Amino acid sequence: MEKRLRKHYDVIIVGSGPAGLGAAFKLAENTNRSILLIEKKKISSGGLRNDCKQNYTYPVGFPLEHWSKEEADLLLKEVKQHLHPRMEERIHVEKYQKRARKIGVDILSIDQAHVGTDRSSALINALVQQLKDLKVEVALHTEVILLDRAIKAITLNDGTLLSFDDIILAPGRADYEWLQRQMDTLGITYSDNIVDIGIRVETREENYPIVRDYYDPKILFPGKVRTFCTNSGSAHIVREKYEGYYSVNGHSLSRDYNNPNGLVNFAMLKTIRLTEPVVSGQEFGKILGQMVMQLSGGSVIMQRVGDFRLGSRSKKETFNSDLYDFEPTLKNAVAGDLSLCMPSKILRDIWKALKMLDTIIPGVLHPSTILYYPEIKTYSNKPSFINDHFMVKEGYYIIGDGAGTSRGITAAWASGIRAAGGIVG
Ligand SMILES: Cc1cc2nc3c(=O)[nH]c(=O)nc-3n(C[C@H](O)[C@H](O)[C@H](O)COP(=O)(O)OP(=O)(O)OC[C@H]3O[C@@H](n4cnc5c(N)ncnc54)[C@H](O)[C@@H]3O)c2cc1C
Repeated sequence: MEKRLRKHYDVIIVGSGPAGLGAAFKLAENTNRSILLIEKKKISSGGLRNDCKQNYTYPVGFPLEHWSKEEADLLLKEVKQHLHPRMEERIHVEKYQKRARKIGVDILSIDQAHVGTDRSSALINALVQQLKDLKVEVALHTEVILLDRAIKAITLNDGTLLSFDDIILAPGRADYEWLQRQMDTLGITYSDNIVDIGIRVETREENYPIVRDYYDPKILFPGKVRTFCTNSGSAHIVREKYEGYYSVNGHSLSRDYNNPNGLVNFAMLKTIRLTEPVVSGQEFGKILGQMVMQLSGGSVIMQRVGDFRLGSRSKKETFNSDLYDFEPTLKNAVAGDLSLCMPSKILRDIWKALKMLDTIIPGVLHPSTILYYPEIKTYSNKPSFINDHFMVKEGYYIIGDGAGTSRGITAAWASGIRAAGGIVG
């Protein structure tokens, strides 16, 4: 903990990801209330630290049940004032859109800015310093363990008890179980029936040249499949730890980074909306992730497209043949067979979408291309909100990816602004 905390704050914000930051700035710039921003990690600020591609076009990142275009556009202007995006160029997009339309695929034109993993820390540190200058207290490496509903207080990992008038919970996706426990304590009902399941594709940039014209192409296929989070230049695949399983993800360094690896990666995700009797997206994602853990000896699976087409599993040797001319960037992925661990409905729809993508951008299904599995996005414990400011109970607000009010950096930040608006009045 950086310094001694007071016993009471007008507003406590839990989580310093973009949702928490958005709320902190809105409050600090518009009220004189005492504000404490708490983050359990040593460094602020959640998902902003990874890659940091910012999408500024509705509806990317904005769940439709919570956001109208007018509201999102209005708040995106405020987000820009803090993140100062340098927009990426988009060229020749019409050429790809024309090809896509012919086969029933939609390519969205999105305003985007990309910071890069190597530059994001500088951005975050600057934002935190600005908050401190605005008299926001920031407690890093400090975890909120539980909420006490009766006395409106939280207990920290060192046993400190802090009370508040208003609290904004913005714990992100990875801590969904913690959030569920707090909602149970508060007596708030929630549902989580949506989950995105998919693969991450890695290939040489020349096999997916669209990235030279459009940094992170948003492509929508039939069967609720879409491309997500494309990385190029110096692009890497990573393994993220969740409770009981790993999910893959991708990031890249800034355009100015002078040692590009010439690779591209992007996710192909299918959205699954579950109905009775299995209604928990998180549980469904966890079960699939755990199956991969079993089949890979505790990691994630990768398979070359050449092997997948032949119906044979990839092996270590596959990655040495002359057709397979680049090394996987995720070193601890295990060569295997996707069709053994992916539900057939998901695999069918994603493979169909990949074939459509290969029609629009010929080459992406080169035999050397690698498919990594699983990429799982368990977005939300959608709480029952009682007003438009994401209030769940008098004085309690829940926002961000963990609450299903966002699916990306800019929408998370906008959710913070909206929640703070409920306190500012
Ligand atoms: C590898 C990777 C790359 C990504 N790339 C992009 C991208 O390029 N563009 C994009 O739009 N989105 C991207 N995302 C998604 C994006 O990061 C999220 O949409 C966004 O960060 C959600 O913001 P949030 O504030 O809701 O949660 P988070 O950013 O997850 O922040 C939540 C914070 O709360 C803290 N916390 C949780 N529980 C507690 C507790 N009990 N006490 C104290 N602190 C707590 C966590 O440590 C965390 O720092 C990426 C995600 C990952 C993992």
